[in-house]
Amino acid sequence: MDINRYREICAALPENVKLVAVSKTKPAEDIERLYNTGQRAFGENKAQELKGKHESLPEDIEWHFIGHLQKNKIKYIAPFVTLIHSIDSFSLLEEVDRIAAKNGRVIPCLLQFHIAAEETKFGFSLEECIEMLESPSFKLLNNVEIHGVMGMATFTDDETQVRREFKNLRQIFERLKENFFKESDCFKEVSMGMTHDYGIAIEEGSTMVRIGSAIFGERNYSHSI
Ligand SMILES: *Cc1c(COP(=O)(O)O)cnc(C)c1O
Repeated sequence: MDINRYREICAALPENVKLVAVSKTKPAEDIERLYNTGQRAFGENKAQELKGKHESLPEDIEWHFIGHLQKNKIKYIAPFVTLIHSIDSFSLLEEVDRIAAKNGRVIPCLLQFHIAAEETKFGFSLEECIEMLESPSFKLLNNVEIHGVMGMATFTDDETQVRREFKNLRQIFERLKENFFKESDCFKEVSMGMTHDYGIAIEEGSTMVRIGSAIFGERNYSHSI
């Protein structure tokens, strides 16, 4: 783990940009070390792993769920999760709403958009999302609260492309804000930017960066695959 790099990243972040330290695959001890330097927001992408870490680490950690969420795993994180970044379909949002109600909570969520050229990344298209936001059944959801949008740029060294994709996400955010969330004070987050592209993301209007390997070191997936 690179505490100096962590401090540099924090020092360089504009005041309105929040850092979510992505601790997926990393042990609780690493999280605790960063927690002891003052970091409170951590991101994970596996529901059961997140549940386990939540149980063994301090209560005041803010847990962000950033991975693809399967409906049958919502129950593991619903009681405590701070923000789900990765809502990518109406049926997932409906199910989060249902489980949130069971837990007596309103769960903050971001709508994930497919902004990258790669085929494999999850997310709404703008058309799909607008269709959802206009549907009467969306308006019936009382236990989810939409706080903004999230997206991942293509993994490439081509800065122009990455910048264009982030710009696109920021424009989607502005458009949804104008047309559907004008009266909502909580619709204000644009979650974009990871280790290799967060600088560009901030320039293009990110309010939340999700940084893992720059802080915790490279991930080793050999045990989890
Ligand atoms: C793993 C992950 C990150 C962090 O990636 P790094 O390149 O390690 O900073 C950010 N966002 C999502 C959705 C991730 O899955």
